[in-house]
Amino acid sequence: MAIHCLRAVPKIPHLSNPKITVSHSLFFSSNSKPKRVFSPIRASMSYEKELAAAKKAASVAARLCQKVQQALLQSDVHSKSDKSPVTVADYGSQALVSFVLEREFPSESFSLVAEEDSGDLRIDSGRETLERITTLVNDTLANSDSYNDANLTTKDVLRAIDNGKSEGGSCGRHWVLDPIDGTKGFLRGGQYAIALALLDEGKVVLGVLACPNLPLASISGENQHTSHDKIGCLFFAKLGAGTFMQPLDGSSPLKVHVSATENPEDASLFESYEAAHSLHGLSSTIAKKLGVKAPPVRIDSQAKYGALSRGDGAIYLRFPHKGYREKIWDHAAGCIVVTEAGGVVTDAVGNPLDFSKGRYLDLEGGIIVANQKLMPSLLKAVKESLEEERASSL
Ligand code: AMP
Ligand code: MG
Repeated sequence: MAIHCLRAVPKIPHLSNPKITVSHSLFFSSNSKPKRVFSPIRASMSYEKELAAAKKAASVAARLCQKVQQALLQSDVHSKSDKSPVTVADYGSQALVSFVLEREFPSESFSLVAEEDSGDLRIDSGRETLERITTLVNDTLANSDSYNDANLTTKDVLRAIDNGKSEGGSCGRHWVLDPIDGTKGFLRGGQYAIALALLDEGKVVLGVLACPNLPLASISGENQHTSHDKIGCLFFAKLGAGTFMQPLDGSSPLKVHVSATENPEDASLFESYEAAHSLHGLSSTIAKKLGVKAPPVRIDSQAKYGALSRGDGAIYLRFPHKGYREKIWDHAAGCIVVTEAGGVVTDAVGNPLDFSKGRYLDLEGGIIVANQKLMPSLLKAVKESLEEERASSL
C-alpha cells in the first residue's frame, strides 16, 4: 500500500525550484474528519540549490577533518559506549554540516539524520573536548568564503550536533549525514569520507561524498601510487542527472561512469578494510565462484562507492557479521553516487536499498554493487555461496 505524506503547503515557496506541481487529494472518513491530506510532489525537482549547499557543507567539513587528521593527537581519540573511536573531527564535521545547511535553508523545517550526538560533550569530562571542537569549527568557518562572519558558542555547537537526532522516514525531506565515514581509516591515516545525502519522500535525491585522501587518479590495481599523487575528491550526484567528480580544492567537475567490464575475470573487487565490518572469507568464496582473478582492494569508508562510480573497480561486496544493522548514513550518499553513474546497488538477494524506514536499513544479508551487466552473475554467485555456507554450518 502506498503511504502518502502530509506536507505543509507553506513550505513550498522556500524550495529551490519554484515550478513545483502539488497535487492534493483529500479523503474523509465516515466521521467526516480528514483522513489524509496528501501532496506528493510529482513535478521534476531540480534540487539545484540543495546540491550546491550539500557540496559547500561537505567541503567545509572536509577542511576541518583534514586539519585534524594532519595533527592527530592521541588525546583526540575518545571512546563511545560501542568502543568505536570518535574524534573531535566527527563532532566538528557534524556541527559544521548542520550549521551550513541551516544557514542555507533558514526558513525550512530542518531535519537531519546523523551519526553523532552531543551526550558525551555535555558532561563535565567532555568540557575541554567541546571547547576544542568549538575552536576548530570557528577557525574553519573563519577561513571559508561564505561563513567567515560566524562565531559559534559551545551551546551553538551542541545544538548543531543534536540537530542530527531526526528519525528520518518516508515523509518529507531529511538530510542524512555521516560526518566521518570510516573513522578507523581516518585514525590510520587512510581513507574516510564526509557523506551527505538528501531524502525526499523516502527516496535519495542527491548525494555528496567528500573523500579528502582519495587520489584523483584511479586506484585500480594496475596503478602504482606515489606520495606525489594529487588527492582529495568530491563526488556528487542528483537524481536523473548523473554523477560528477571534482577535485576537493575546486576546478571543473567531470562526469563519471561505472566500469563497463562484462567479464568477471577483468573485474576488481572492493571490500571493507576492517574484517569486523564485512566477512572477507565469504567475499573470497563469491569472487572465486564468479571468476574474479585480482585480489580484493580493501579500503575504508564510502570512498569505495566514489571509486566505483568512476570505474576504478567493478564490484563491491559487504557482508556484515550476523546481527549488525546497517545505518542509512553509511550508504545513502554512496548509493546515489554509484547508481547515477550507471551502477546497481542491492541487498544480497537483489532488492534495492530502502532508505525510508528510519535510521536503519533493513536488508537481506548484505550489500552488493556492480554494473548492470555483471549483476545477474554476481547475484547467482552470492546466492550459491550463501547456500553453501548455510549447508556447511548445519
Ligand atoms: P567501512 O569503512 O566500509 O568498513 O565502513 C565503515 C562503517 O561501518 C562505519 O561508519 C560504521 O558505521 C560501520 N560499522 C561499524 N561496525 C560495523 C559492523 N560490525 N559491521 C558492519 N559495519 C559496521
Ligand atoms: Mg559510517
